Amino acid sequence: MSQHVAVIGAGYAGLACAVELARRRVQVTVFDRSHTLGGRARVVNKDGWRVDNGQHILLGAYSELLRLLRLTGGSPKQLAHLPLTLHTPGALHLQAARLPAPFHLAFGVISAKGLQWSDRLAMLRLMRSLKKRAFRVAPDLTVAGLMRETRQTPHLVKLIWEPLCVAALNTPVGEASAQIFANVLRDSLAAGAAASELLIPRVDLSELFPVPAARFLAVRRGKLRTGTPVEAIQRVDEGFRLEGDPSPRQIYDQVVLATAPHHAGGLLRTVGDCDRLATMIEGLPNEPITTVYLALGPTCHLPFPMIGLTRGPAQWAFDRGQLGGQPGLLACVISAHGPHEGMSREELLLAIHRQLEQELDVRLPSPEWSQVITERRATFACRPGLMRPGPQTPVAGLWLAGDYLESEYPATLESAVRSGVDTASRVLRTIRISAA
Ligand SMILES: Cc1cc2nc3c(=O)[nH]c(=O)nc-3n(C[C@H](O)[C@H](O)[C@H](O)COP(=O)(O)OP(=O)(O)OC[C@H]3O[C@@H](n4cnc5c(N)ncnc54)[C@H](O)[C@@H]3O)c2cc1C
Repeated sequence: MSQHVAVIGAGYAGLACAVELARRRVQVTVFDRSHTLGGRARVVNKDGWRVDNGQHILLGAYSELLRLLRLTGGSPKQLAHLPLTLHTPGALHLQAARLPAPFHLAFGVISAKGLQWSDRLAMLRLMRSLKKRAFRVAPDLTVAGLMRETRQTPHLVKLIWEPLCVAALNTPVGEASAQIFANVLRDSLAAGAAASELLIPRVDLSELFPVPAARFLAVRRGKLRTGTPVEAIQRVDEGFRLEGDPSPRQIYDQVVLATAPHHAGGLLRTVGDCDRLATMIEGLPNEPITTVYLALGPTCHLPFPMIGLTRGPAQWAFDRGQLGGQPGLLACVISAHGPHEGMSREELLLAIHRQLEQELDVRLPSPEWSQVITERRATFACRPGLMRPGPQTPVAGLWLAGDYLESEYPATLESAVRSGVDTASRVLRTIRISAA
């Protein structure tokens, strides 16, 4: 196919789109302002340590991302497959059984430690109620509202639903969309043992998909221009030119804007006719994610690769040593807005260290190394009734891709990848129509 498509953004969405186009022999050039591939899911090199910009969890239900990992030559060994296990030291242990749905969950709930019978019944009640209404709930309902409607116990809300909601939607239960939460539960917990498996990358997030995707493009005439911010998109008679392109005369037949929402608005305004869309995208509310890395020495490890924490500020801790990383390196995650935002780096490090000591009931050594990484606009706040744009723009040949586009899922790697694949299929359709 003789068309040339520019993709702006080498995050998971932009690269998924580029891979799908290159696979169908479309010439693609991908631009990224950064020299590191992966966008909001990327490796960070600091003081000789290689960590991610934030701990990411994938689910067995991430079918498109898993397909693309296989397509681009990824190895299954790059992901640790863990049966869904919710372990909060001294408070809860729930592990889904390796059985077909719904028995995997029912067995896990019945045999869980730390739950009263009223909690177990409430959990099964919520799942049954959602199943009965085909996982459709009122569009304005929050997760907290759903909890009230299905009479969830305070213990269950604190130990299971609040941490799961904030992990999946990066939005607290009081503000989070019950419909999107129901979609996540439908495709994970309610879908069977394999779909609810937690897949935790054993390699860094740039190495997991972006680097193999870049290799895939390179052997299919694709170009990757990193360290190249696109400053503006200009419409010309035959297509588009990009300001910032090292080949300034190059004309692209179509352009896919695959940046985060906070970068998309500004670029859309440079095109003309897209101001309303830009305003809508810029109006999406954001939530931050902070990841605190503590290197506590090789003798230190958690009872499970991933544990829940309830006494704030962190909600989850991951033992990178058990996940293919440096022994004794812990990643502690604080999702969404909260009081931690008022703390200095030192106060936060001390608070997390103290929290781990209290919840694990052990004395921990002082960290050999530590790092606090805050992504202030990690994801959009996944609230009920949020208007998310579709992939089309008012300008023919200019498309959007990214985790914030209209979808059944919250902002995740899977929604980013699905959006990239969907936009690629729309671009391909227009190419086929114009060739016919
Ligand atoms: C800390 C953290 C933890 C997370 N945890 C999880 C998790 O556990 N599970 C999960 O599924 N998801 C998680 N997510 C969400 C997931 O990372 C995102 O949904 C996904 O990475 C978004 O991908 P994207 O391609 O849509 O956007 P991005 O990754 O933001 O990619 C956009 C790219 O565009 C580039 N760009 C911007 N402007 C320009 C320009 N002018 N010119 C050229 N390039 C430009 C950027 O450099 C970037 O590389 C987490 C996110 C964060 C930040």
